[in-house]
Amino acid sequence: MLRLENITKNYGKVQAVNGVSLELAEDETLALLGPSGCGKSTLLRIIAGLELADSGKIFLDNQDISRATPQARGFGMVFQDYALFPHLNVERNIAFGLAGESREEKRKRVTELLQLVELSGYESRRIHELSGGEQQRVALARALAPRPPILLLDEPLSNLDMTLRETLKQELRFILSKLNIRAIYVTHDQGEAFALANRIAIMREGKIVQVAKQNELYNQPASSWVANFLGHPNLYREKQLQKVAGVKGPAVLRNDLIKLGEGNLTATLQAHQLLGGMHQLWLIIPEWNLSLRWQGFTRELPDNLKVGDSLKLSIPQSAWLELPETQTT
Ligand code: ADP
Repeated sequence: MLRLENITKNYGKVQAVNGVSLELAEDETLALLGPSGCGKSTLLRIIAGLELADSGKIFLDNQDISRATPQARGFGMVFQDYALFPHLNVERNIAFGLAGESREEKRKRVTELLQLVELSGYESRRIHELSGGEQQRVALARALAPRPPILLLDEPLSNLDMTLRETLKQELRFILSKLNIRAIYVTHDQGEAFALANRIAIMREGKIVQVAKQNELYNQPASSWVANFLGHPNLYREKQLQKVAGVKGPAVLRNDLIKLGEGNLTATLQAHQLLGGMHQLWLIIPEWNLSLRWQGFTRELPDNLKVGDSLKLSIPQSAWLELPETQTT
């Protein structure tokens, strides 16, 4: 297990990382997700040994590695900008970290890795002949070659265009689960974090504000800031909820617990969209003067639903999650 204890790092007056404690279990991919400048890369660089923390400790399988060099830690790294050696071909780039192995062993390992990243036969290609996506696959293969105890990825898909990013995201997801390797994945992109990680740590201003699985993050955000950052469709400030019985503070409304088609409330349909069988409804409940967005699969809706129609629904008390903070930003 990798364990961080109270890691802090300042650059002059900037508190880049501020008291972070975190654990990474065996076989786990953890995403560090947060807005630009919140300290994700700094934390990752501290884990890699590329920066030293001002205070705090790092343990790998109970061994204190806080002051160990990056080489001694031996973690695999994949960066946004590939960082491949332009003068070496694909094979030699991948084999770069395989010191002390015979030529035959190296060749075997390279073939194996090229197969994994779906670039079989690319051994003698030059780096400048490769597309961005291919370069990033080579970078991944190079990071994995020495069988590192942990793989660290810093925004690895950010330099790719959208279609390529989507393809590589799915491939990375497949590769990470196939290899059963521990990984930390830094990103500002919620979609990547949600698709790739087993757990997500949300960072804000140098601190981790919530660590949870996708479901829990979405259904039980720790604060209105987290709900807002995740783009929760139904996040309400206090004054929007004045008429809603039993809800006092800022709150989110859990979509999955709203029942449509029956119930004691009446809503008016403001807009409707059907995408791949999934409905998205923008509703207003006049009695509460409350707007909400509902999305999901349902057979309860009439076929000829149109704007202005009334719909019955019920919202159980448990669907309201009150949030501790009063601000939403
Ligand atoms: P993120 O990866 O979340 O975008 P960073 O870890 O890169 O955030 O940066 C966190 C904060 O630390 C930012 O305010 C950034 O400007 C500052 N910072 C990062 N690296 C340095 C550095 N080498 N020197 C000075 N300030 C830095």
